[in-house]
Amino acid sequence: MLEPRLLEIALPVPLRRNFDYLPPIDFPLDALDSMQAGTLIKVPFGHQELIGVLLAVKSVSSYQPAKLRPALGFIDHHPVLDTELLELCRWAADYYQSPLGEALQTALPVLLRQGEPARLKGEPVFVLTTEGKGLPEGALKRARKQAELLAALQKTPQLTRADLDLLEIPRAIAKNLIDKGLVRIEELVISTQNPALQLLREPPLPLSDEQQQAFEQIDFTGFKTWLLDGATGSGKTEIYLQAIEQCLQQGKQALVLVPEIGLTPQTIQRFQRRFAVPVAALHSGLNDKERLEAWLQARAGIARIVIGTRSALFTPFQSLGIIIIDEEHDGSFKQQDGFRYSARDLAAVRAHRLNIPLILGSATPSLETLHNALQGRSQHLQLKARAGSARPPEIQLLDIRGEILHDGFAQASIDAISETLARGNQVLVFLNRRGYAPTLECHDCGWLANCHFCDARMTVHQTPRHLHCHHCDHQRALPRRCPHCNSSHLQPIGQGTERSEIVLQQLFPGQKIIRVDRDSTRNKNAMQKLLEDVHTGEPCILVGTQMLAKGHHFADVTLVVIIDADAGLFSTDFRGPERMGQLLLQVAGRAGRAEKPGRVILQSHHTDHPLVQTLVTRGYHALADLILQERQLTALPPYRQLALVRAESKFPQKATDFLTYARQQAEILSPATPALSYLGPLPALMEKRGDRFRYQLQINSAQRKPLQQLLTELAMKLEASPLAKAVRWSIDVDPQEMG
Ligand code: ADP
Ligand code: ZN
Ligand code: ZN
Repeated sequence: MLEPRLLEIALPVPLRRNFDYLPPIDFPLDALDSMQAGTLIKVPFGHQELIGVLLAVKSVSSYQPAKLRPALGFIDHHPVLDTELLELCRWAADYYQSPLGEALQTALPVLLRQGEPARLKGEPVFVLTTEGKGLPEGALKRARKQAELLAALQKTPQLTRADLDLLEIPRAIAKNLIDKGLVRIEELVISTQNPALQLLREPPLPLSDEQQQAFEQIDFTGFKTWLLDGATGSGKTEIYLQAIEQCLQQGKQALVLVPEIGLTPQTIQRFQRRFAVPVAALHSGLNDKERLEAWLQARAGIARIVIGTRSALFTPFQSLGIIIIDEEHDGSFKQQDGFRYSARDLAAVRAHRLNIPLILGSATPSLETLHNALQGRSQHLQLKARAGSARPPEIQLLDIRGEILHDGFAQASIDAISETLARGNQVLVFLNRRGYAPTLECHDCGWLANCHFCDARMTVHQTPRHLHCHHCDHQRALPRRCPHCNSSHLQPIGQGTERSEIVLQQLFPGQKIIRVDRDSTRNKNAMQKLLEDVHTGEPCILVGTQMLAKGHHFADVTLVVIIDADAGLFSTDFRGPERMGQLLLQVAGRAGRAEKPGRVILQSHHTDHPLVQTLVTRGYHALADLILQERQLTALPPYRQLALVRAESKFPQKATDFLTYARQQAEILSPATPALSYLGPLPALMEKRGDRFRYQLQINSAQRKPLQQLLTELAMKLEASPLAKAVRWSIDVDPQEMG
């Protein structure tokens, strides 16, 4: 008799187990055994239908066969995920204590999760119609962009949308020509056989001696992690480009992860300008269809280079040859909810399994990465000089204790700004708070505008006028009178970017001021437009938040003014000082990146604080050494392994009860493990947020293994506990934010 056939399936539900189903009714049983793991399948789940991932075809279930339901049907006959990615997801789900179904959900493009088949359509390309071809030279002279596109098509018969972007021809122009019957859309016939006769569009730059030395060390034949530790503007990107070229020459593909791609269109353009091969950019501007297309192109081996943010780590490839992570210290590589993975750490796992090199680049490497390099787990490559003729900026610490400030600006800063503008250069003013002012205060009774739902103050916004909680998004009208004493003496306290913009307008009338923060860049392409203004090179003042710190190249910015250097100094999160150092240096690094020398003014109330002193006089690496020593003394990462069990509820008692239970269980599960220690339940840094009370249990371990073992068992216990039903809870392995 034929053994029964059962399907083991991972489903996108928050339960740490897989599910067994009977084969779909009518499905030919002899075909079942050829169905591969990684194939998508639709199943009934309670009253819903879900799409899951087939893990195995088997004959024994730990559930009662009578209780099993038949699956509804396979979405496709081929797996969407190959073994390599499936195994990576399994590893990640284990390590981060996440249900496999949720990890797989992160790895798959939205449309696949919704049941769209994973088939590659030809990419649309623009070609000339017969009429278009017959057009005399110089036609359409009055429509300059249209004429440009026609000329481009005469040179290259097929242009993709990416080509148009590169030529800076808006898609609407192509549409105009289509309406005129001169251009039509065809499907590009894709062939992976084409061995990309030509890899490069432009020649690589000759490397400086220092770049050359670093580059020569990189071994492309196997797995190793390379920390490319180079000052801002030292030419790391050029090394990435040449490393990728090496891989392409071997017929392989490359994956580049960047923090926030929408913010740095320049980075993508730089890759597209260099390489003649298809580059897929997985950025937030893509719709689901385009995203799926890029994913499929990478899987088919057509896209030779993929550039994307965190989740692009899960892109499938034909033959991946290298992974590069730019700005590896950036917090955005760790997902902060749901499946809480670190794309940087998982990249090392993926590279190891594929036996390919991993390059981690940064001017301010994370302490974890520096520690790994010190321990010899990765190879440390250093670039000290700036590339080309650029020189490192000079950092000046400005003591503002007792100074009269003009809405946050010291007189010396104002003078420096005037001088810079007078010389025809640009200024960047950094301040990490959006809105007009961090809060509103009553001058008569001291009332403060608190959020009703969080332990936080409401930020004052002027355009449009309202109070806004940046933690739970709650908004309300600006009161005219104090709700407590009815006084009309309400005043905004402190500085936000909106306020600085207004102050700068008053101080420098007629001067162009460009504000860059989440509010000013909310609309699609807004960031790009603002950056275009900056890149005209006209004198201007840029004022903005950390959005300005990330990866931008502002050739004409010669002065950076940091309004408040002290923000991270007294943070209760142990990573506060590290983050502060990284942010300040990244912002400072925007000055003087081209021929013009740069200068940085750091306004501070704590100029003699040892961390500030170390950073300014001895640089980031000295600061990192100092913080590492502290971490070692206080038994914190990277010397210890950390995990948090978090719980939140509208009722604080429920959250603390749950975590008390978690700690008891943990102590029962690993009674004799001296490596492990516990702290909590403690309130989170922000105890109340979005109307929920938040608590956490910290688990600290001297070694990785006992922690992992404990967490796996603990997660099962917690999931089964009735206390869990009353709270939202999660486990965060290697947490980046303690809040
Ligand atoms: P990073 O990535 O370290 O910030 P980039 O690679 O962006 O640095 O280099 C900064 C600037 O220096 C860029 O404009 C780049 O074109 C230029 N550059 C980099 N390497 C060289 C080189 N070998 N010769 C000349 N210019 C270079
Ligand atoms: Zn009052
Ligand atoms: Zn709030």
